[in-house]
Amino acid sequence: MRVVAATGNPGKLRELSALLAPLGIEVVPQSAFGIEPPPETGASFLDNALIKARHAAAVSRLPAIADDSGLEVDALGGAPGIHSARYAGHGASDTANNARLLAALANVPPGKRSARYRAIIVFVRTANDPAPLVGEGRWEGRIALAARGTGGFGYDPLFEPLDASGTAAELTPAEKNLRSHRGAALRALVAQWR
Ligand code: IMP
Repeated sequence: MRVVAATGNPGKLRELSALLAPLGIEVVPQSAFGIEPPPETGASFLDNALIKARHAAAVSRLPAIADDSGLEVDALGGAPGIHSARYAGHGASDTANNARLLAALANVPPGKRSARYRAIIVFVRTANDPAPLVGEGRWEGRIALAARGTGGFGYDPLFEPLDASGTAAELTPAEKNLRSHRGAALRALVAQWR
């Protein structure tokens, strides 16, 4: 089965492909159809995931999968949340987003740096699918005092999962997929699929 992935984020694409390959699902990036990402105007991870999936399905005429995800930091009232990709401004690099996060937490001691990644993954069979499949995942952790590791993407060098030692960027891809919010969301979605 071929499914178009409504993302241009190479880190997400890698993880989604690895998680779906064992099910015989081939993930085709939306760029292969020349699809530009639509504006993420929703007020929640779910709204934004549906906007992206329906748009990709409409243009490609294939079933589509979309992930909307982000980092919630308790000391920042849940920020950056749905704005995680653009925390340091539109088109910001991971390095710039991480620098802004460290600056925002400069005076927050280690015991108060709790955070979690959240992901919502949706699957639509067609653009107007009235009953999308939805999976949700969370990964609890805390924000490190300095970046460590080169794996993963986004905030991974700063995210210390509670269920691992070190940062998410120090895990292998398989170790990350086993624990991550994205892995959990996809497994919840696939359970409904079956
Ligand atoms: P989206 O493309 O609007 O869903 O933005 C998701 C953003 O959240 C990414 O660009 C990252 O900044 C952050 N994020 C989501 N999942 C992860 C992850 O697994 N590792 C690191 N950062 C993540």
